[in-house]
Amino acid sequence: MSIETFYRDSWAEVDLSKIDYNIRQLQGRLSAGTEIYAVVKANAYGHGDIQVAHQALKSGAKALAVSLLDEAIRLREAGIEAPILVMGWTRPEDAVTASEYRVSVTVFQKEWMEKVQHFHFEKPLKLHMKWDTGMGRIGVRTTKEMDDILDHFRNNPTFELEAVFTHFATADEEETGYFEEQERRFKHLFSHFERVWQENVEIHTGNSAASMRFPDRMKNFVRFGISMYGLYPSDVVKEERPIALEPAFSLQSRLIHVKKLDAGEAVSYGATYHTRKEEWIGTIPLGYADGWIRKLQGMEVLVDGKRHPIVGRICMDQFMIRLDQEYPLGTKVTLIGKQGAHEITTDEVADYLETINYEIPCMISYRVPRMFFENGHMVEVDNPL
Ligand SMILES: *Cc1c(COP(=O)(O)O)cnc(C)c1O
Repeated sequence: MSIETFYRDSWAEVDLSKIDYNIRQLQGRLSAGTEIYAVVKANAYGHGDIQVAHQALKSGAKALAVSLLDEAIRLREAGIEAPILVMGWTRPEDAVTASEYRVSVTVFQKEWMEKVQHFHFEKPLKLHMKWDTGMGRIGVRTTKEMDDILDHFRNNPTFELEAVFTHFATADEEETGYFEEQERRFKHLFSHFERVWQENVEIHTGNSAASMRFPDRMKNFVRFGISMYGLYPSDVVKEERPIALEPAFSLQSRLIHVKKLDAGEAVSYGATYHTRKEEWIGTIPLGYADGWIRKLQGMEVLVDGKRHPIVGRICMDQFMIRLDQEYPLGTKVTLIGKQGAHEITTDEVADYLETINYEIPCMISYRVPRMFFENGHMVEVDNPL
């Protein structure tokens, strides 16, 4: 645990107890023996990878999944011993590095195996074979492609086939036809696999949506991402509410300047906003370089438990709001989260930007320190600056 200092009045809060709760809720729905990969790619969806990884493992996750070898190595160098899977592309020439860090990587091309078999390995290379059952992104699509890859495993004991897996494209939608088609394709590939491969492997297919909605259909591992952070993968899953998730992320700031403007005065670049009457205008020290992007002009924030609109253009480091009255400097401003009876959710910000909730914490940049809480107590601050 490290308590770092920071010298600005904007920060994100990550409540690790909520992550604990969300994981335990999912675990409670899964069949006995089905385990969890905690997906902590992209700095744990902007929440803080090392802290979330530690919490997830403490809460019962058996392994971690990321997208990049760089992300996996960062976790290893932070002292994390649990299995780590890189779900995305790893260059063949980096396979030796992956093995040295005991990081499992994803394979789906025979050309990749052909290149990798010429390298010298001191430690086994653990591989998960990706099957493309309809996502159309990465993965083998035919039994022929599968066989070509498996031949390399037979010929080289350095390669350890740890798992086979796939990814669903529509598990969060009301209409389950395409999801079921992907399941059928997976079963077809798996029945071939079982005939030609005798050793035991892990199987993981489900993301948050599939694992929450169809827990009985999940085979021995699920990959739990967005919902571990307390966000629903879609409005459909939010309405079904298989688990009453609790969001872990909030975004906070403070009023650093408050003034009364006469009617007809302009605010911010381009002088696009004009006060209609005498107005109290507050300045907030957060801007698009922090990920609070210019498109959020017009969105509301909470001050004193009430909603106040962002007025004028958002600058790189600051933006302005229209206040209903004068407030003292240092008054807390909540951009995402609760104040009194009111709440601005990540979903509301995503809707305003016509995007999905996944994108919102991811876009809050490294300039915004993350403050971690456990059972209401601040336990750590991470400030990359
Ligand atoms: C990101 C990702 C996940 C996690 O998906 P969520 O919808 O966030 O649960 C699972 N599997 C793969 C391959 C991914 O890339």
